[in-house]
Amino acid sequence: MEHFDCVVIGGGMVGAASALTLAQLGLKVALVEKFTPQDFSAEQPLDLRVSAISLASQNLLIQVGAWQQIKQWRCCPYKRLGVWEYESAYTEFDADNIEQSHLGHIVENRLIQLALWQNITAMSNIQTFCPESLLSLKQDDNKATLTLTNSVVTAKLVIGADGAQSKVRQMSAIGMTGWDYPQSAMLINVETSMCQQDITWQKFSPTGPVAFLPLPGKSSLGGYASLVWYHQRDEITRLASLSNSQLQQEILKCFPAQLGDIKVLAKGDFKLTRRHANTYQHKRVLLLGDAAHTINPMAGQGVNLGFKDVLALQHVIAEAIGNGDVWHDEAVLARYEKMRRKDNLLMMSTMDALYASFSHPSPLIKVARNLALLAVNKVPVLNSTIKNKALAYACGL
Ligand SMILES: Cc1cc2nc3c(=O)[nH]c(=O)nc-3n(C[C@H](O)[C@H](O)[C@H](O)COP(=O)(O)OP(=O)(O)OC[C@H]3O[C@@H](n4cnc5c(N)ncnc54)[C@H](O)[C@@H]3O)c2cc1C
Repeated sequence: MEHFDCVVIGGGMVGAASALTLAQLGLKVALVEKFTPQDFSAEQPLDLRVSAISLASQNLLIQVGAWQQIKQWRCCPYKRLGVWEYESAYTEFDADNIEQSHLGHIVENRLIQLALWQNITAMSNIQTFCPESLLSLKQDDNKATLTLTNSVVTAKLVIGADGAQSKVRQMSAIGMTGWDYPQSAMLINVETSMCQQDITWQKFSPTGPVAFLPLPGKSSLGGYASLVWYHQRDEITRLASLSNSQLQQEILKCFPAQLGDIKVLAKGDFKLTRRHANTYQHKRVLLLGDAAHTINPMAGQGVNLGFKDVLALQHVIAEAIGNGDVWHDEAVLARYEKMRRKDNLLMMSTMDALYASFSHPSPLIKVARNLALLAVNKVPVLNSTIKNKALAYACGL
């Protein structure tokens, strides 16, 4: 039976990044993942699952050596972010306002994961168990024992980075609060008549927002984009059942004119949930990313929060090692939760407030939210304080 300092369950974007940051501290790490990441080739179509990666997340990916590879494969920087309900209250955030060259990048989730895994294979102190699953987890005073599909391993610390349905969370009897939103989201990859854009936009309406995320590359029509369509669950189920050409007609009817002409390439629908673990840490178990918190994806912050968890954990463990403390002591690990819980909760609650405000049918609230957008855009003092602060926060700065 092999012994590790840390066993990370789940080698998605957050788990893989965490394995690397812990290995950077000299710890002996095991990474357990159910599915082998697929290799990249430039002919592969753009994947449906993409994320808006903030500047702070880009910095983490640079730190662990994955960013250069992602840039060489493919990603799309964006410089501007447009938000509106009525055209007259259109608000635009620009990287120039916070003295940055861009606000973030749209990257396929699987390429982030794959670039991280390439760096993992180069680290002699990370052992991967893939494809393998966690079957059971036992904790005693000295260690945790994990039974995997084909092996049994022990660890000083178990990290649950196994996503929203986390088995680690369930096996450690960590409770959670949360709910399912009445809306679902549909992701649609399209060819657009416009070439690669430097703007991502979101138009709100009482039935839910529609969003445009630019994707890299040239298509026969012009460029590529990822569209996100939020609506009541039944309506998303109906849209998902349409053929690509029928869906195309619906998109052209319901999306704003800014979109231009499009051709649907691929689509998928997703239920929206909010979940928050009651604690991020229990004895020898610690939760990161979606295993600890699942957020409404409206502002594209889920993985960005997960990467902030990764950095916080690396920080508290590095500090403990530096001070000669037992790095896996519960008191040390509690500092991670202290650093992250409030920030995650603030982002989750901000998303819910936005969601509630923009889906409220009252004409009075409709006018109020558009006036608020207008004020933020047109009143210089609000423009330079609230707008730029909100922008810096969303970029993780
Ligand atoms: C529609 C939509 C759009 C989104 N857009 C954005 C965006 O623009 N920006 C953003 O920041 N976030 C976005 N998100 C959120 C983001 O996708 C998640 O926050 C992110 O994927 C969480 O990463 P993770 O590594 O924590 O979990 P996951 O991505 O769920 O990875 C978990 C990993 O654990 C593995 N695993 C699970 N169980 C086991 C087990 N028992 N044993 C071994 N391995 C296991 C899985 O195979 C998987 O690889 C969006 C989410 C949705 C639904």
